[in-house]
Amino acid sequence: MTTSVDVQNSTALDLGPARALACRECGHRIPLAAEFACAECFGPLEVAYEFGKVTRADIEAGPRSIWRYRALLPVPADVDSYPNTEPGLTRLVKADRLAAALGVKSLWVKDDTGNPTHSFKDRVVAVALAAARRLGFTVLACPSTGNLANAVAAAAARAGWDSVVLIPSSLERAKILTTAVYDGALIAVDGNYDDVNRLATELAAEHEDWAFVNVNVRPYYAEGSKTLGYEVAEQLGWRLPEQIVVPVASGSQLTKVDKAFRELGELGLVEATPYRVFGAQATGCSPVAAAFKAGQDVIRPVKPDTIARSLAIGAPADGPYVLDSVRRTGGAVEDVTDAEVVEGIRLLARTEGIFAETAGGVTVATAKKLIETGQLDPNAETVLLITGDGLKTLDAVQDHIGPRATVPPSAAAVREVLNRG
Ligand SMILES: *Cc1c(COP(=O)(O)O)cnc(C)c1O
Ligand SMILES: [Zn+2]
Repeated sequence: MTTSVDVQNSTALDLGPARALACRECGHRIPLAAEFACAECFGPLEVAYEFGKVTRADIEAGPRSIWRYRALLPVPADVDSYPNTEPGLTRLVKADRLAAALGVKSLWVKDDTGNPTHSFKDRVVAVALAAARRLGFTVLACPSTGNLANAVAAAAARAGWDSVVLIPSSLERAKILTTAVYDGALIAVDGNYDDVNRLATELAAEHEDWAFVNVNVRPYYAEGSKTLGYEVAEQLGWRLPEQIVVPVASGSQLTKVDKAFRELGELGLVEATPYRVFGAQATGCSPVAAAFKAGQDVIRPVKPDTIARSLAIGAPADGPYVLDSVRRTGGAVEDVTDAEVVEGIRLLARTEGIFAETAGGVTVATAKKLIETGQLDPNAETVLLITGDGLKTLDAVQDHIGPRATVPPSAAAVREVLNRG
């Protein structure tokens, strides 16, 4: 593992309230550094904090981005003084028409398509970059299923850093072009995401100055997902929803939303009311849903085969912790077919005017299935996380939608089509 700072000298490392890295499995603590696996047991390392006094008023007076929560993140207090993409504070939409279609009483959609590169990945990358700067890195890198590629390339460009982005060569064309435009080193690899991920781990060991956001600085990166939970709570008027449905790829986002809700309760920023966390997967890559349904604790890796490529991680690193969150809170993990994913995208679009990518289709379709199977309470207030923009996955819908008709430029012809209904 690479470490680009003197870990003994951790007092010099200002990452705000972050104090150490702690192993999720055995609790072993090490000073803040670019490490991701426990030296004692190989368990994943997580940021441990010592929070100061944080008030709602402080947060509300902060920047209109994720940096309003900087006192709760592993970043220095002056984080927003560096050029960055300023992600976050996306809309929380009261989704009454979707609620009616699904038969639920109170429904909200967290619309993270509004981020700078149109997915929630801008949040995690911004936190990773801020921490990587303090850890002494100079190059931002990642293996990616697409959205992370966009976010890393854009964030590096904005910060004036070089980037190295590795993607499976089969990625959607739109996600390739929307990464390449930022002009970092974009490299297409013949292999699936899990192959690309292994390659990144190998390269991270060779290049001391490359911060692979989701590999060697993963503990910091992962904390960025907490901001989704903080925002939902703040936008609901400083309270927790009763149920939340979260798409699952590596599973990091789901566990961090759960962590955010818990922290807010512990810090007295919200009342610690009970909430249930639900995970959403595509059937073609549903190792966590399979383990949940089988009542198992271990995740059996799968070979992904789904249109929801942003969620196509066959060996999800945080899968076991997703199971912990979901079981602890009384939620569930469910999966839906690709046909249901497309239906989910279309349902959200026609009821709320929000065009989500396939991951959003997974969330909507899973919510529908959870309601139909009685796992999600239709009378409890529910939030759906819509994490990416449909413009990036046009391939998924192109065979299903299009103009109702092609007509000559004549009013009569238009009338005729409309009358047909
Ligand atoms: C990466 C991604 C996720 C899930 O991320 P994990 O934290 O790896 O589970 C969800 N939605 C979209 C659009 C993504 O790109
Ligand atoms: Zn350990």
